[in-house]
Amino acid sequence: MKNAEEILSKLKEKIKTIKNINDLNNLKAEYLGKKGSINELTKKIGTMLESEKKEFGKKLNEIKSKANDLIETKKQELEKKILEEKLKNEKIDITLPSTKIKLGQPNIEEKMIEMVEEFFINMGYDVLEGPEIELDKYNFEMLNLPKEHPARDAQDTFYLKDDTLLLRSQTSPVQIRTMLEGKGEKPIRMICPGKAYRREDINPTHEQELCQIEGLVIDKNISLSDLKGTVDAFVKHIFGPNVEIRFRPSYYPFTEPSVEVDMSCIYCDGSGCNMCKPKGWITICGAGMVHPNVLKMCGYDPDKWQGFAFGFGAERLTMLKYNMNDMRILHENDLRESANFDRREDN
Ligand SMILES: [Zn+2]
Repeated sequence: MKNAEEILSKLKEKIKTIKNINDLNNLKAEYLGKKGSINELTKKIGTMLESEKKEFGKKLNEIKSKANDLIETKKQELEKKILEEKLKNEKIDITLPSTKIKLGQPNIEEKMIEMVEEFFINMGYDVLEGPEIELDKYNFEMLNLPKEHPARDAQDTFYLKDDTLLLRSQTSPVQIRTMLEGKGEKPIRMICPGKAYRREDINPTHEQELCQIEGLVIDKNISLSDLKGTVDAFVKHIFGPNVEIRFRPSYYPFTEPSVEVDMSCIYCDGSGCNMCKPKGWITICGAGMVHPNVLKMCGYDPDKWQGFAFGFGAERLTMLKYNMNDMRILHENDLRESANFDRREDN
């Protein structure tokens, strides 16, 4: 019994000198481990009288629990000290400048498309989509471009498999699909921003994959002046209230009459600059009244229904808006470029 008390008081002394967790663990093993000195004592029980055994066992348990408490208290003390030191050393200097994180941002062409969508949604248009792999029928035939029509050559098309399936060369097939769904009864007001594909030699103003934004309105009593009013409001929304537009006669197989729309140059006062050749005007869109043949093929009676259609290039709108001369930059996703244009917009 005396022995046990001695062991405990020795432990009390030793524990005072312990400075780290590792040493404490070693000390714990020395006293409370399997071969530790307290466990050694239990072996003595075998040599004791029955009457002594009970009291000795009780005492031994007490010693064990006291030793455990001593070690646990020391452990907490050491851990607290470690934490305090860590906090002291890792104190954050909030006056230091922070590390700049580079944020992503929308591609500027994407922003333009959103701007266009917002305008037309506010005018009551639907924003629709269609497949990029199209039937020749929807991409050409029903747009009044039968096989062997010379105007097909103007769009160098990617054909797939045979000549019935292709990568759409324009988003007009979405208009055809929408009219077919309208079954000659429903008025239509839609735009369809989406990709179109053409076999072009890639250069600053041509790419093989482009985003078109076409629009279509079908209703009763629609005239060319509705088209003019719509395009005028749209151009002013994108380029500012002082921009003016003019119509020039043109030819597309799917519209009659067809026009090309010019807007007054936003970069010079009409005296002529790199952007506006010929002087003072920039071509921005092709448009016209939906050809009666197209209406008929899509189930609309041209004597009752009229419509207009227009097509903008998202790349061209973006390039004009941000005064760019190389289309390819738009598709390279270089964040530095986007940041540049953001700043231009802010100024
Ligand atoms: Zn100009």
